[in-house]
Amino acid sequence: MDKLKIAIQKSGRLYEDSIKLLKDCSIEINIGIDKLKTTALNFPMEILFLRDDDIPQYLEDGVADIGIVGKNVLLEKRKKIQIKETLGFGKCRLSIAVPKSLIYKNINDLNGKRIATSYPFLVREFFEKKYIKAEIHEISGAVEIAPGIGLADCICDLVSSGSTLFMNGLKEVETILQSEAVLASHLHLGSPQNIIMDKLLFRIRAVKKAKNNKYILLNVPNERLEKIISYLPGIKSPAILPLANSECSSVHSVVNENDFWGIVENLKALGAQDILVLPIEKIIL
Ligand code: ATP
Ligand code: MG
Repeated sequence: MDKLKIAIQKSGRLYEDSIKLLKDCSIEINIGIDKLKTTALNFPMEILFLRDDDIPQYLEDGVADIGIVGKNVLLEKRKKIQIKETLGFGKCRLSIAVPKSLIYKNINDLNGKRIATSYPFLVREFFEKKYIKAEIHEISGAVEIAPGIGLADCICDLVSSGSTLFMNGLKEVETILQSEAVLASHLHLGSPQNIIMDKLLFRIRAVKKAKNNKYILLNVPNERLEKIISYLPGIKSPAILPLANSECSSVHSVVNENDFWGIVENLKALGAQDILVLPIEKIIL
């Protein structure tokens, strides 16, 4: 039977979330001890476990059909592959950081500096756009220690909380890319693989939509119903159900996570009672 080969990170920051995404899409896998590859139990899919840096090349060559990788790695490697979906995890930024003691006014202060990075292509491209002439030193790991040991004056590396920079006496001064994990694919998938990928994308989109929304239920005195439902979007419109107590109704709706607290505060102020909030597993429109 035809299978879709997906490459995911073998271990590291994207591993857990990649496995969880497959699980949320109801794809069951058994992870063996050697963890080189495995087959899904209930979906036509083979999972290859690789170093994240190698995934773009495998996708270009068609060794893997699709893969989960950081946008940062994908853009640095410049392989001929296609982004199919952003995945909302592995969020970080690629930033330039300088020693805390350096007085930094603007980007021109980077002229003539030595910069250590694992992202030489993206850094060069950024400097060219800004007309900065700096010396780029490519190193593959522990970039943040480079200024401390005299290897470079500043660095460009991935940052999420900034605590690693802080611990190494550095401060973030420019962001060159906002990144997150993406699902990318080989450019010329066979027809069976395309069909399976579309099934997977359908599930991923349903899971993503569900994560961004909450199901809310509230009791509303009937005289307040009209005002309250004007604040509630719902997927089509809110559902209204009668209660045994004929003075109140139960209102059900779906609200976006980002607008959630604002909506709840308004509902409460307008007289909504007993507000329940539930997570949604999947939304299929
Ligand atoms: P591998 O052994 O697979 O080469 P790695 O050490 O290169 O792993 P990780 O540190 O596991 O890579 O990071 C994998 C990806 O996680 C990064 O390329 C990036 O997209 C994402 N990421 C999210 N937050 C961070 C962060 N704070 N620091 C580094 N990477 C992050
Ligand atoms: Mg890597």
